[in-house]
This record gives sequence, structure tokens and C-alpha cells, in this order.
Amino acid sequence: MGTMKERSSVLQKGRRAPVARSATPCNPQCREDQQERNLEMVTFRCPICGGSEFVDDVGRKMERCTSCRSLKRTRAAALFVEKFVKLTKKSKILHFAPEERFAEYLASRCQDGYEMADVSRDRYQPLAERLGAKLAVLDLCKDAKGLPSDTYDLVIHNHVIEHVPCNWTIVLQQLHRIVKPGGAHLFSFPIYAKGYYREELDPAVSKDVRTKEYGRWNHVRRFGRKDLDRTLGAVFNIEGTEARDNFTVDELLSAGVTSDFQNLFFLRKPKKATAKASKSGPKTRVAAAA
Ligand SMILES: [Zn+2]
Repeated sequence: MGTMKERSSVLQKGRRAPVARSATPCNPQCREDQQERNLEMVTFRCPICGGSEFVDDVGRKMERCTSCRSLKRTRAAALFVEKFVKLTKKSKILHFAPEERFAEYLASRCQDGYEMADVSRDRYQPLAERLGAKLAVLDLCKDAKGLPSDTYDLVIHNHVIEHVPCNWTIVLQQLHRIVKPGGAHLFSFPIYAKGYYREELDPAVSKDVRTKEYGRWNHVRRFGRKDLDRTLGAVFNIEGTEARDNFTVDELLSAGVTSDFQNLFFLRKPKKATAKASKSGPKTRVAAAA
């Protein structure tokens, strides 16, 4: 790791050279080794702004694009959109807590169909006005069940679920319900690599305790990699849905997404998700609960 750290701090500038490709199945150590070998050959390109320089930030390698300021998780989300979502002028997107430059990227590709949503109007109104985009002010705990079914080609929420002070499972199922058959649900939240799931909904818990126990003053829960199969994995089939399952080491690396990154999920809703076909799936349970 020492070598990687040294290199990432000096190799922030993009280089024009052929990208070495490898689609060979690879475990985490193997990906780390591949990354180490290929770091100097990769051409860096931010999938959001086209920038070619990524710098370390908040203790993470190559975390920020120096040009659009995007974080690794936002660039990884943009890679998924670029590779797997065919956006047209008619596409409909619902983007929660929209990251500014990613919002621009999405809005420019689907015009009127791009909508943003958040619990706070003040925070996103200026961006919505600038992009000419709709802004829905939503409290996911109360309003998710009222959103229209099978409507969006793409629903995106990065680092939202850890803030939602109610049953996150229901919220995620509701957000999946509003994805069109054939559409995609793209989301991320912090996952503690060596930890287990914990939650604290009591609003009396202090900001200090939340920061210490949950990573930030306004987080109500934390997820752990150790029991992810029994939390998120109990709601959706998440096998094969992460960035490392869908991109080569070099595809990720060229976007400044290093091999330590692994908390973004891309779920495709089946094209014919009729009530009959999904009797035992989440859609039916959501319908029954709504
Ligand atoms: Zn960028």
C-alpha cells in the first residue's frame, strides 16, 4: 500500500498512453496488484467533466477531480450511466441530493425528463433554476409511498439512505418501485469494511455521538460489509451489481476510481416485472404495503 500511496500522490496528472485492458475475473488482492501495475499506463479521464487530474482528499486516494470537484462515488455512478444507461431526450431521471456537476451532465442528456429531489428546497433551488430542472421537495419517510410506479428510466441516490430517519428497507423498495421496467436504480451509501449494521433513530442522540458512531453528525445508521448480505442483500439480489463486477480495473482507474472503492450498486429492473411474474419479489410486497 505504501508504494500505491506514493504513486497516487505523484501520478495525479493524466497521461496519454494506451489503456491496458483486462477482463480476467479478479479477487480484491489481484485487482490491487493489477492497479499497481497499470497505474502508469492509464489515461485518466473524469466521466463527468473530462478532466484528467485526481487528487487525494479526506484520506482517500484520488478522491477528487480537480476540474469538477466530483468524488469517486459520483464518477463511478457516471461510469455506470455512460456504459449501461441509454439516455435520450425522452429519458426520465429522478436524482436525489443531486451532485452539481453530475446533475448538469444528466440534465444535458435528457432535458425535461431530468428531475431532482431532496428534503431541502433551499439547498437545491439555485441549481434547479440554473438547469431549468424540476425540484421535488420530498421527505422520503412520508412521501416515498406516494411516488408514481414504473416511471423513471433512472433513479439515483448517492449517500442518502444513511440519513433517512425511518425504515430504510421500505424506502429503498419504494424507490425501486418507481423505476420503469428495464430501467435502473443506482445508489450508494457508506459501508464499513470491517463492521456490522447499526442504527439509532432517537433524535435525542447528540451530534458528537453520531459523528463518532455513525461517521457524520446527521447519519442515523451505518452499514457493514460483514452483514451486507443480511441487510441490503435481504432486500435485493446484489450479486454482480457493484462497480468492481461491471468494470475492469483499468476502466475504473482511468476515472480515478481505485480498487478500494466498493459501495455503489446498479440494479436493473426486469423488463417484464408484472405482478404475476414477481409474486414473491419486492414489488408485490411494496404494493401490498402501500
Ligand atoms: Zn471531473
